[in-house]
Amino acid sequence: MPETSPTRSNNFDGWLDSYSERAHTLSVSEVRALFAVVSRPEVVSLAGGMPYVSALPKELLAKAYESMMAKKGDLAIQYGGGQGDAELREQLRDIMAIEGIHASPDDLVVTTGSQHALDLVAGLFLDKGDVVLAEGPSYVGAIGIFRHYEAHIEHVFTDDDGISPVALQEAIDRMKAQGRRIKFLYLVPNFANPSGVTLAKERRPQIIEICQREHILILEDNPYGLLYFDKPVPDALRSMDDNVIYLGSFSKILAPGFRVGYVLAPPALRDKIVLAQESALLCPSMFSQMMISEYLSVADWRKQVDTFRGVYRERRDAALDAMSEYLPNLRTTKPDGGFYLWVTLPDGIDSKAMLPLAVKELVAYTPGTAFFGDGTGQQHLRICYSYPTPERIKLGIKRLATVINLQTELIETFGKKK
Ligand code: PMP
Repeated sequence: MPETSPTRSNNFDGWLDSYSERAHTLSVSEVRALFAVVSRPEVVSLAGGMPYVSALPKELLAKAYESMMAKKGDLAIQYGGGQGDAELREQLRDIMAIEGIHASPDDLVVTTGSQHALDLVAGLFLDKGDVVLAEGPSYVGAIGIFRHYEAHIEHVFTDDDGISPVALQEAIDRMKAQGRRIKFLYLVPNFANPSGVTLAKERRPQIIEICQREHILILEDNPYGLLYFDKPVPDALRSMDDNVIYLGSFSKILAPGFRVGYVLAPPALRDKIVLAQESALLCPSMFSQMMISEYLSVADWRKQVDTFRGVYRERRDAALDAMSEYLPNLRTTKPDGGFYLWVTLPDGIDSKAMLPLAVKELVAYTPGTAFFGDGTGQQHLRICYSYPTPERIKLGIKRLATVINLQTELIETFGKKK
């Protein structure tokens, strides 16, 4: 054993040579690394994408728990099927119908959050070097999974209307010219994490048409679609093409602590997903699934989603107001739902390098580099407004402005000296 490795219990680096090649792709995500620092109460965290679960009356859950235990307590604490609870899958029909999806519960698989669905699907498709096309920027948790399966992530230009169909075709042509194998297009079409943008209605059929022609699967990840502020989002891509793999989640419309998500897939793929799920964890938690199923029956869940919308809308307004007051010259996206703003910094400022200075000023954000698989994104940062109160959001953005303005001045002075 190398001298540098002390005991097995406190340092696993002694086994570094024994790890699988895949294990070396695991590294602390920029978001995770931040959690320890930003959990200090004096720091305003605009970093982690946490839902504001305090807006969910706990009596609603208590009521669901009581009736669920009375009706099916033994089943709830037992193992269940690998595809997930049949009753919950039936109820998911109504939720998906809101975005135009009319599917059979037989084609649904309940998973441990949509994060696990992402991992299962990635594991079924990706070999080393395969290409995943993704928005630029894209969800950090998906990038981590695709990296873990040693895929190449090719970002496609994305603007305020979502991923660009022209840029998508160019990326496909470029990858094909390099002789690379494209496995799927990964998209967060509504109030995307991290950009907050929504794929425009007219672009949706164009994206589908390109992918059908090029025989590329689409993986549509939609945890935020029901959290719109003014008007509902356009119909899901899955509603236009039954071959789209669609992911949903209860994390943002109820609570992430249940760890319940779902994937809707064409039948042959659905069977593979069930097998992969059984091999990984036998079955998703029956307790969580039955709690949610009962909550959907006994609580007015639509009204609760309205409450969440109201909370997040007020916070989005606070964030945008503070941006125009304290950082009027910076470009930011203007989300119509969800949790996030995507900010473009002045030339020369690196959001990752600036983060320790921001934390010193008692504000935290997520650097843009977290959301690209290729190390770019330095000139951007993500602000998450879902968790802090409007007053804290304003305070946080005011502090952020102090740091950015100081950086800008330094760059200007440095530039003048040259
Ligand atoms: N996809 C996106 C775009 C997300 O933002 C998240 C959570 N932040 C997930 C998937 C995973 O959600 P969960 O596993 O809690 O369902």
